Formats: sequence, C-alpha cells, structure tokens
Amino acid sequence: MTTSGAKWVYSFGRGAAEGQAEMRNLLGGKGAGLAEMSNLGLPVPPGFTITTEVCTHFYAHDKSHPPELEAQVADALSAVERAIGAKFGDPTKPLLVSVRSGGRASMPGMMDTVLNLGLNDRTVEGLAHNSGDERFAYDSYRRFLQMYGQVVLGIEHHHFEELIENHKIEIGAVLDTELGAEDWQALVAGFKEVVLAETEKPFPQDVHEQLWGAIAAVFGSWMNARAVTYRRLHNIPADWGTAVNVQAMVFGNMGEDCATGVAFTRNPSTGANEFYGEYLVNAQGEDVVAGIRTPQHLTVAGKAASRATLPAMEEVMPAVFAELLKVRRILEDQYRDMQDIEFTVERGKLWMLQTRTGKRTAQAALKIAVSLVGEGVIERNEAIRRIEPNSLDQLLHRMLDPAAKTTVMAHGLPASPGAASGKVVFSADEAESAASRGESVILVRIETSPEDIHGMHAAKGILTTRGGMTSHAAVVARGMGRPCVSGAGDLRIDYAAGTMAVRNHLVRVGDLITVNGSTGEVLLGEVPTIEPQLSGDFATLMGWADALRKLRVRANAETPADARAARNFGAEGIGLSRTEHMFFEADRIGAMREMIMADQERGRRTALAKLLPMQRADFAEIFRIMRGLPVTIRLLDPPLHEFLPKTDAEFQELAQLSGKSVLEVRQRTHALYEANPMLGHRGCRLGITYPEIYEMQAVAIFEAAATVMKETGAAVEPEIMMPLIATRRELDILKELVDRVAGEVKGRTGVEVPYQVGTMIELPRAALLAGEIAQSASFFSFGTNDLTQTVYGISRDDSASFSGAYQRLGVFENDPFVTLDTAGVGEMIRIAAERGRAARPGLKLGICGEHGGDPASIHFCREVGLDYVSCSPYRVPIARLAAAQAELAGESGETTA
Ligand code: ADP
Ligand code: MG
Ligand code: MG
Repeated sequence: MTTSGAKWVYSFGRGAAEGQAEMRNLLGGKGAGLAEMSNLGLPVPPGFTITTEVCTHFYAHDKSHPPELEAQVADALSAVERAIGAKFGDPTKPLLVSVRSGGRASMPGMMDTVLNLGLNDRTVEGLAHNSGDERFAYDSYRRFLQMYGQVVLGIEHHHFEELIENHKIEIGAVLDTELGAEDWQALVAGFKEVVLAETEKPFPQDVHEQLWGAIAAVFGSWMNARAVTYRRLHNIPADWGTAVNVQAMVFGNMGEDCATGVAFTRNPSTGANEFYGEYLVNAQGEDVVAGIRTPQHLTVAGKAASRATLPAMEEVMPAVFAELLKVRRILEDQYRDMQDIEFTVERGKLWMLQTRTGKRTAQAALKIAVSLVGEGVIERNEAIRRIEPNSLDQLLHRMLDPAAKTTVMAHGLPASPGAASGKVVFSADEAESAASRGESVILVRIETSPEDIHGMHAAKGILTTRGGMTSHAAVVARGMGRPCVSGAGDLRIDYAAGTMAVRNHLVRVGDLITVNGSTGEVLLGEVPTIEPQLSGDFATLMGWADALRKLRVRANAETPADARAARNFGAEGIGLSRTEHMFFEADRIGAMREMIMADQERGRRTALAKLLPMQRADFAEIFRIMRGLPVTIRLLDPPLHEFLPKTDAEFQELAQLSGKSVLEVRQRTHALYEANPMLGHRGCRLGITYPEIYEMQAVAIFEAAATVMKETGAAVEPEIMMPLIATRRELDILKELVDRVAGEVKGRTGVEVPYQVGTMIELPRAALLAGEIAQSASFFSFGTNDLTQTVYGISRDDSASFSGAYQRLGVFENDPFVTLDTAGVGEMIRIAAERGRAARPGLKLGICGEHGGDPASIHFCREVGLDYVSCSPYRVPIARLAAAQAELAGESGETTA
C-alpha cells in the first residue's frame, strides 16, 4: 500500500517480485537480479529495493528523502516480517537485514554493504536463544558493530581490529575461530566504547535509526571518492544513482552445515563451459572475496585443476551442490549469458543473494560468445555486439617468449592473462607516481582493496599473495585488462622493509620482476616477450565481423615489423606510412642532417643521394610484406628542425660531417627556429620549397615498386599522399613532380607502376575547398590529429595543462584528441566528404589519425561514408570489430551525433 502516486519501493522474495530483470535502471543491477531470481522461483531471502530515483531525489533535494518513502519502507518491511515470521527489533524473534547498494552498472567494491542490521543489546539475546548458539550471535553482533561503525559512522577499521588483536594476545589465541561467546561479548562492549569515543554518541540501539542511518550511508557512498574515481574510469554518469536493497539475513556462519560462496556459470578466465566457484564453510558475506581464509573449490574438477587439498563442495555438501547446478542452468537459460552469482547455505539450505552478468577476460568473452552461438542460444550478430572492442587489446598484447630463460620465483593463480614486467612497488600511491614518471611498475600487495584502484590502473601488472580467482585484485584486474597473479601464498611481503621474499629469493622495492597472468608465474627480472597467439574463437568471431562490416581497416605502419604485425592482425592495407620515421634511424640521421645543413640545392642533392638507397630498400620491404594490398605513403611532413642535433657532441659531429664550423652549425639551427613549428615550414610547404626532397622520395617509391613488381609479377599500387595541403595549387605542383618522376622511372626500368596521388585533409581550408582539391586528388585521408588541432586552434602538445580541467568542467565531454569531436571536427569531415565526392564521384576516403582506432569515432566514420579507417597495427582487430558493430548500429538507425 502506498500513500501517494510515486512508487519508490519494490518488494521481492518468496517466488514473486514487483520488479523484473528489465527494470535495471530503476532497481539497479542487484535489485533487478534479486527480483528476477524471485520471479524464477529461486530461493531468495525476501526483501525490497529502494529505487535509484530516490538517490537522484536525495541529491537533488539537499540530501532528503521523498516524503512518501518512510511509509513505503514500513509497508515493505512488514511484508518481509510476515514472510520470515520474525519482527524487526523484536527481542524474542528479531528480524535481521542486510542493507546493500547496487547501481545500474556493477561497481565492484565501490559501495559498502552492512550485514546483520537490527541487532542490539536485546535482540542479540533473542538471536542467541533462537539459534541455540551464543557464539554465533555475539560474533554477528560484533561484525554488525564493526561494519556499521565503518560504513555508516565513518570510524576507521583499525580501531576495531586492534581490539580484536589485543584480546587475542590477552587470551593467547591466534585465529578468530579460537574466540568463544564470552570473548565476542567482551569485544562487543569494547566496540561500543569505540563508537562512543569516536562519535561522542552511543551506538544506536533503535533498529529503525540503524536502518535509516544505513540507507542514508548507501546514498552517501555514491559520492565517495572511490565511487567517483571508478565512475570516471568507466564513464558511468553520476546521475544514474544507486538503489538500496534491504534484505532478510541468512547465515552462512551458524556452523559446519553453513557456508557462503561465489560462482561463475562458466570459467571467467578461459570461458570454458564449466561451473567455476569458491566457498567457505562457516563464514559470512565478504569472507570469500576478502582473502582472509583461502577459499575451497565448488567442484572436484576445479579442485583437481589447481591441485588444492581442501574438499570441494561437490564432496561435502552434495545436495546443495546439485541444487546450485540447477540454479546455474536456470540462470543461464534466462540471461543467455555467463552469470556471476553469490549464495549462502544456512543449515543445509541454499539461498541465492545475487546474480549478474559476469566479468570475464577477453579470451573468455570470445569463447563464451562463440559457444553460445554454437549452442543455439544467441545469434551471430548478438555475439558480435557482446564483445567490447577495446577489450580485445588484452589478447593482442605480447606474451612471454617461451624460449626465454626464466627464473620462477613463486606461483600464484592465473587471475588475469597477459605478461608484464616492471619495477616492484608496494603501494598504490607509489605505483601512480612511478607511472607518471613513465616507469613500468608491478603493484605488489598482500591483497588489494578499492582504495588501491588508482594504483592498479597505473601499474602494468598486479601481484597479490592472498585471495582467489574472485578476489578484489582478480576481478578488478580482469576488468582493466591488467595481467594479474593472485594468491601467491609462498611470498612473504614486508611493507615496512620494502621487500618480498620466498625461500632463496629476495626482491626489493624498485627491482624488476615479471608476472605472467596466463600461468600464475612470478619471475625474476624482465623477461622478453613475443607476439600473441590468437585463438580459434578469435578467428571465428573476427570472421563474422569481417563478413558484416563495409568499412575497410588499414594500419599505420612504416617499419617492416609493424607492417608484419598489421597483416597478422588482418589489416587490409597501409593507410599511413610516415616516411620521416625512417629518417630518424641511426644510420640515416647523419645524411638527413647534412641535407638540412646544405645552403645550396647541390649540397642537398648530394646528401639526398645517400638517403635514396635506404629509403628505396624500406619501401621495397614494405611492398613485399603488404603484397596485393594498398600502401599509402605520406611524403616528408615535420619541420626540419626536428632532425637537428640537441647536444654539444652532436653539434661537433655534424660540424665535422658537413665541413662547417660548430658556430655555423649552431647558426643554421637557430635560423630554422620557428615560433609555431606546427603551423610553420612543414608538410607540403617543404616539398614545394625544396622539391629535391620529395623528388628523392618519389624516386625511391617508384624504383622500389618496380623492383618488387619484377620480383613477384604482381602489381604494386602505391598511393602517394601530400601532407598539409591548403590549396589546389600546392597539390598540382607536387602532383606534376610525382608524375614526372613516375615517367622517368618507367623509362629507366621499363616497368609501369600504377599509382595514385592524393592528399591529407588536415586544414579547415582544405576541407572547405574539398570540391576544388578533389579535382586533383584521387583520394583524401583525414589526418584528424592535425585537423583537431587546427579546427580547435589547440596545440595537441600543449593541451595537457588544461585538458583535465576542461573535462571535469564539462567543456570537453571527452579528450578531442582521443575521441573524435563529431560536432566540430566531424562537421568539417562531413563537409569535405560531401564536397569532395560531389566533385569526384568515387573519391576514396579514409581516416588516419589516432581516432581511426577508437570505436566511438569508427561509428562516426561509417556514418559519413568513409571507405576505410587506418590505425595502429595493434588496434586493427579492435577497429574490425568496431566497424562491424557500427554496421549493426547503423542498420538499427542509431547515430553518433
Ligand atoms: P557487493 O556489491 O560488494 O557484492 P553485496 O551487497 O553483494 O556487496 O554484499 C556483500 C556480501 O554480503 C556478499 O557476499 C553477499 O552475498 C552478502 N550478503 C548480502 N546480503 C546478505 C543477506 N541478506 N544474507 C546473507 N549474506 C548477505
Ligand atoms: Mg563488496
Ligand atoms: Mg555482491
């Protein structure tokens, strides 16, 4: 019964619920899952969900609740009391509840749950009497005091922990399990004193005050620093809000026939279709994931695979296990995806506490999606939609070279795949500051907690000595794609000394180690790595994506290694080969500098003649590797001063080489100084004023193409691209030069190389006058790095000082150098594409900036009708998948604008 129109509270439990899975936005993920499990007839302790709209209301109205809320909560609470046959605050038959947060998106560990709420000095007696277990009752009470003290009253953890430790020393105990009823009773008294001392108020004995205090704390935690950081890292809007779930307690800590556990309906690491989970006997709530005791496996197979000795649930609680297997099937049928579940066993009875779509490694995501198609559960397009393109990055990373000599220091669990090397740091703050200095670090912790998120993000890899595959470290690392080894229990960490030791190895802070999250190995030193080996599921899914997408995917590559990687990852050509990168190599920079130092064309030609064979060999190699695929080569782009020496020794060396004095060399360098080099003498402006440079490059391209065509008998079709074109006349001058060289090389070699000349579009003028420029260009490639700089008038190299503030203030929704600004820069692209194609139908259009590998930008590229995107070789698979998803989104009429 509600007192007004607005419904703020939804009940669940006992085979029915007011909510359902589809009401996730309103009920939060946890609330929707509890409602759905109730509807499916699964055993869910009864309770109710206070909606996310209440949270939004709370922040919009000076942290106050809507007026109808109290009455709606009272009604829902009575329904729970009736269902359980107990009363909230009743001294003889007390109802206890948990108060649990849960937003739309799962935010592991971000929000705090309070268990055993409703206990006070009187109800604890009732609990002791009804359970016949005084120890259990007082242990529950002290847990409640502790959690409530921390989460609601903001008292630091250590105040409580110290009391427990001191008490243990006093009575000569080591483990919590050695403490009896009187010990916990004494600690309860001590905890209440802590609360009084820290808050200057007694611990609330009124159960309703407890409940409303906890509800307010959940809403309050939505804005705590950890939650805000997590939302920022995962792009979760602050106005989504969290729901609050209030649910009757069930107890996994009432004895040996009780347990608590977590499970995945499929293996979250490999994706194998096997039940995978962990449990602890006689334990409550977070004990399994907190890494306090080492959890046991659910299945005999899981136990065998990890060579564990403690018995599996399948062995000790076969009836409960059988029921869990049924639940597994029901939930997978319902959600058509792998689920991550939480459950508790109270005196032999199974209770379900949570279900959600499980986080998984990229490898597991592929296997699960492809298997579900095979099982007839989902369609191919659905499988394509389910893979987050950026997550493929995890698979494309290098792995340990199997031929490398390694020293294994310790073994842990393969919690998140991939290998990483770095310097050991023992705190999240150190990890963050070392990473900001550009160092690679491995974050080593006994266990991690939500306070460590920023350090986990900054680290290349994570190592913990405690906790299982579902520990905080493991779950978060998998989500972030960081290699992680968890539970390497042989390692002894000493934070104070800054060391980590095992038998005969000692590693100090700053020493290099390697973690292999695919095998669980911890290795000494830095271990060489090799290209990843991609699985059959990867190939299958990419095949489906390729069949669907219309947007082509090329790579930005100039070295043979990059070109090979690009082909491996399925690139359909090279969209940008930056020739200047070739000049920076040690054997060429000298000739390049000599060329720049020459005052006369003659001198420049002499130096260029030295560069020609090297550049020709580079191109030939790339043409061989990319056989049959298009290769776009951009002629020299950066300002010349970038190649000039910086140190005294280099000045002297150059003076000798060029036969000039050091002073003259310095003067020449000074003369090349520009106030705004990005807008200065660079790009096609160099080619026009020093035509011999572009001429050498064109000769190298055509001679290389001719050589490879003779070798292979197959055509090589270079696409020659002019940078920083602003006017058609610039392009015409350079095109004439290229055409002339093509003719000359044909005369010398007798080979006619088919080629195209086109331009980058990276200046607003070029975009606006695209119609004119297209009359001379066979293709356009949008250089969105420069185009973003020039459309915004912001220097990319200088934007860091304000970009962060701009994002916080909402001036930039995203960093425009990472995600294409579709409104402004995108409009420029639209205009250029339209005008260009109107002047020259069939004009080939591509993009070759950083944005070419960004999934959101790829959706835009498809929408404006580009032919291809070009990105770094390691992002090619990401772009292939994103292009397929863009096709699916386009078919269903979504737009990016
Ligand atoms: P999180 O979002 O961090 O997973 P939860 O709300 O799921 O937090 O709760 C933390 C722990 O407490 C979980 O292990 C959960 O299973 C347990 N728990 C929550 N509510 C109850 C309850 N009513 N009875 C028993 N255990 C509970
Ligand atoms: Mg938690
Ligand atoms: Mg949970």
